[in-house]
Amino acid sequence: MEKQHFVVDIPMDRRNFIKNSVGALAGLLAVGTGSSLGVRSNEEEAVRWALLADTHISEVLSDNYRGFYPYQNLLKVIPQILSNLPDGVVIAGDLARLEGKVGDYANLKKLLNPLAEKKPVFMALGNHDNRDNFLPVFNKIAGEKQQAGGKHVVVVNKPPIRLIILDSLFYVNKAPGLLGKAQRQWLEDYLGNCDDTPTILCFHHTLGDEDGDLLDVPRLFNLIKPVRKVKAILYGHSHEYGYSEFEGIHLINLPAMGYNFSDTEPIGWVEARLTAKGGDFTLHVVTGDKDKDGCVTKLTWRT
Ligand SMILES: [Zn+2]
Repeated sequence: MEKQHFVVDIPMDRRNFIKNSVGALAGLLAVGTGSSLGVRSNEEEAVRWALLADTHISEVLSDNYRGFYPYQNLLKVIPQILSNLPDGVVIAGDLARLEGKVGDYANLKKLLNPLAEKKPVFMALGNHDNRDNFLPVFNKIAGEKQQAGGKHVVVVNKPPIRLIILDSLFYVNKAPGLLGKAQRQWLEDYLGNCDDTPTILCFHHTLGDEDGDLLDVPRLFNLIKPVRKVKAILYGHSHEYGYSEFEGIHLINLPAMGYNFSDTEPIGWVEARLTAKGGDFTLHVVTGDKDKDGCVTKLTWRT
């Protein structure tokens, strides 16, 4: 067990050296650990994602709320992400300020361009988005676009993790969200047919029972509870950063990028390093409450 931790915790550039040393040691001891070492190196395979939510970019660059400037916040974050380029960027909805105007998306696209030129950017739609305005602006969407009841659904297969972007936009500029029967049916079929790659779902809405949450949460939970490959859900909406669990499925509420609703909440993004076994999630605070800046949350996937 100890040896396993040793291998997992080493920095990337020393990995080969350590692996060779451990391999040599295993050979000397001749206890048949060769095959388990092979498995271990697969377990080390990781994908890195920059996770954002609630960017709330307006067509008006100076737009602000509670003294926070969403455009300036995102402008500040782009070089941070570029400086340690992840494999991709995920934004969990409420891309636009209020109504999902074409001008909102044009500004968002301009901001994201330096990133999008280098790595794919995947976006879920929230209650302040408009599907009909979003799709023409972001017409070259990376990932595998799915036919799911007219919703914006994308599958991203990036070993060792599969990401499924779902669409909980129900009414533009009204709080509640809904996946809806057609999308849930699509999800059930897809999960029933895909391989066992650990899978993370991403959409905008929160998972409570308030009138402004995702309205079909119980149906979604019933659907994914027995599907063991579903390991976590990423979402936004609350403008609060937090972790909880349902039946061993990690529920990760990403902080807002645009503004908070409470002084005790950070405004920023999360850097995720994901393996087949779990993930490390590092908070990067831009403004708001800076108390948890740099904090790393380590999660283990259910089996
Ligand atoms: Zn929001």
